[in-house]
Amino acid sequence: MTGGTMMDIDLSEALSCQRCPLSQTRKNVVWGEMWTAPWRKHTPGECLLMAVAEAPGHIEDLTARPLVGSAGKIFRRLLLQAGVEVCYLTNRVKCNPPGLGGRGNRRPSSEEIDSCAPWFQAELDIWQPSVILLMGITAIQPVFQSKTVGEVIGKSICRGGRIWVATYHPSYILHQRGSEIGKRAEQQILADIKYAWWLVQRKES
Ligand code: SF4
Repeated sequence: MTGGTMMDIDLSEALSCQRCPLSQTRKNVVWGEMWTAPWRKHTPGECLLMAVAEAPGHIEDLTARPLVGSAGKIFRRLLLQAGVEVCYLTNRVKCNPPGLGGRGNRRPSSEEIDSCAPWFQAELDIWQPSVILLMGITAIQPVFQSKTVGEVIGKSICRGGRIWVATYHPSYILHQRGSEIGKRAEQQILADIKYAWWLVQRKES
């Protein structure tokens, strides 16, 4: 990232970033995108809520879009169910961290999270969300300084003029599919989305 304000960000610079070793294995840098409910027209520049996952998975890496894999589809359904109208979707780390032998995904390392932090900050500067939903420990830890999701789940914190809400990553529902834990995780994420959306509406009114 070169000089100038983040508002002047050159997206081509982000999309060709080589700041960390994930640039060697990714197919695409996965930048965020705006989600709107089907009945809602998006006003340019508007960002009511931001949702931050951990890092792109395999499908996101191939499609260059955030939260479009199985977990992402669950999350998009929950957004609708919670009555959210507008939400910017992104990841804390913009490139896929491949698992051992290139199979599956792993959690990004702290070095990768730090390397990618300027891009996440750029998204905050561009969209200026007042409420941010953090999903999973990679997204939660840098804000809440918490070692586990369980310590902060459903909690909110005020930092830098914004409200940050912690919840599970939607992939947790998939990992616990069919079990009581999975059902409770889905209910918890839904409740946390509703809470974040309620905070947005309270700030807007
Ligand atoms: S993960 Fe972030 S810092 Fe690393 S190469 Fe991708 S965009 Fe750059």
